[in-house]
Amino acid sequence: SPAAHAAIDKAQQVLENTFGYSRFRPGQAEVVASVLTGRDTLAVMPTGAGKSLCFQVPAIAADGLCLVISPLVALMEDQVQALTAAGARAAFINSSLSASQQGALLRQAQNGQFDLLYVAPERLADPRFVEFAAQTPPTLIAVDEAHCVSQWGQDFRPSFLEIAPFVQQLPKRPVLMALTATATQQVQRDIVRLLGLNNPFAMVTGFDRPNLHYAVEQLLPKQKVARILRYVQQRPSDSGIVYCQTVKEVDALTQTLQEAGVRATSYHAKLPSDVRSRNQQAFINDDAPVIVATVAFGMGIDKSNVRYVIHHNMPKSLEAYYQEAGRAGRDGEPSECLLLWCNNDIATSRSFIDNEGEALEGHAAEVQRQASRNRLNAMIGYCYTVDCLRGYLLRYFGEEAPEHCGNCGNCEGSFQKANLTEEARQLLRLVHFTRGRFGKEVLASVLRGKESDMVKRHRLDECRFFGSLPEASDRDLKQVVDILVNRNMLVVEEGTFPTIGLGPQFKAAGADDFQLFLKRPVKSAPPSKAPK
Ligand code: ADP
Ligand code: ZN
Repeated sequence: SPAAHAAIDKAQQVLENTFGYSRFRPGQAEVVASVLTGRDTLAVMPTGAGKSLCFQVPAIAADGLCLVISPLVALMEDQVQALTAAGARAAFINSSLSASQQGALLRQAQNGQFDLLYVAPERLADPRFVEFAAQTPPTLIAVDEAHCVSQWGQDFRPSFLEIAPFVQQLPKRPVLMALTATATQQVQRDIVRLLGLNNPFAMVTGFDRPNLHYAVEQLLPKQKVARILRYVQQRPSDSGIVYCQTVKEVDALTQTLQEAGVRATSYHAKLPSDVRSRNQQAFINDDAPVIVATVAFGMGIDKSNVRYVIHHNMPKSLEAYYQEAGRAGRDGEPSECLLLWCNNDIATSRSFIDNEGEALEGHAAEVQRQASRNRLNAMIGYCYTVDCLRGYLLRYFGEEAPEHCGNCGNCEGSFQKANLTEEARQLLRLVHFTRGRFGKEVLASVLRGKESDMVKRHRLDECRFFGSLPEASDRDLKQVVDILVNRNMLVVEEGTFPTIGLGPQFKAAGADDFQLFLKRPVKSAPPSKAPK
């Protein structure tokens, strides 16, 4: 329609005049057009794709108030500051403001002085705000980080469930848009249903980052630091981020790198805020090309020439990994994402999950923990897979992918594939036979024919499985157990001595196409000098 054309022309002007960009990035124009023609819209785009612009441009181009619901207070403040600096009319209301400041801003909004008003979802429950919205109903509501509405998504926030009822009681239904970087089908469906999007236009842009090279290495904990040091020293002129799980690890690794002459700095929540921003600035200016950080680092950082992102530990989910690793190569130049992990990482993540959801009620907490376990399992699967890493990532995010990308550690075959299908079947049979009473150690000893005290005490040396896999290594058998646990074919029964039982999926081992491979390092992988 002519009106739609006029609106889109206006959007193009806003893009140029307010933001100084000459063209929309992939997906943005479609989202902006959809919103401007009055249709509810779901935008699923990876981090860094430019989601904010998708609601900022229509908010400025069209009449009326755009209410932006965002869970991240720091991010909303940054955006409002940037918008204001660009001459746009934007404000935020959050608890950092006094009651009288809030009142003044609401009056200004009522007088039509803002195109964008940012609030956290909790604000929708504030009676003063509800009254304001009844008198000045927004014409557009943009829900940022919309996956927070789903219990299946990372970072579920109950306050997001209040958005739909809030919208319903408005005197006039606004256009609704939801934005997220989480693309699993389940989460997308939840967003549409729980936010009450009406026949939305969905824009899902590609998650593939072809310039990123992915690689995974399993190391012993004590090998990790040496590996990182070597890696960083081989790239003396490159900028990189090294993510660690704990503040202690950040401090120790920073020190090691500095002592080796690397210009490294660090970032974590325990540093005083002035030190934190100084370090961050040093990294951005390339005074310190390497930053060692906890995952607190990176939100809103837009440094384009990051050549590598190393993970010192396995992250808690592929969503987190994709986002953190995705900070490499924003400029489109070839960049590397290296994930180092060890078995302890899995145990640490599992214990974090067991303590999750304390603020929620019993059932809700358990639902959340189960969702976290599922996400961790997908992450573990990424670490173990012998298939293309990029393919694994893309399929997880609901995209199709070729079998081989040719640009990841697995496609390059920096390891050998060892077929341990028979070992896996033997292990499952042994667990069945011993009715899940033993742990990994005993199971491996029995199959290898090792007469340990436990084996003899339980007379397992007399069973038919004893010594049935004399050639197998202890390490391989234990890893096979881990993979079977990951596939829900075995389960760990926690206790003073964790035992291994059959899991709900154990029957899958009987299928003809059941296969299990392990990665065996070859020459290019780091030499394992550790005695053990
Ligand atoms: P997201 O929210 O998807 O992670 P942002 O909205 O923070 O991404 O945008 C990432 C960066 O891309 C920002 O620096 C933004 O200014 C820039 N950007 C967004 N849209 C465009 C565009 N059309 N042209 C150039 N740069 C853009
Ligand atoms: Zn690949």
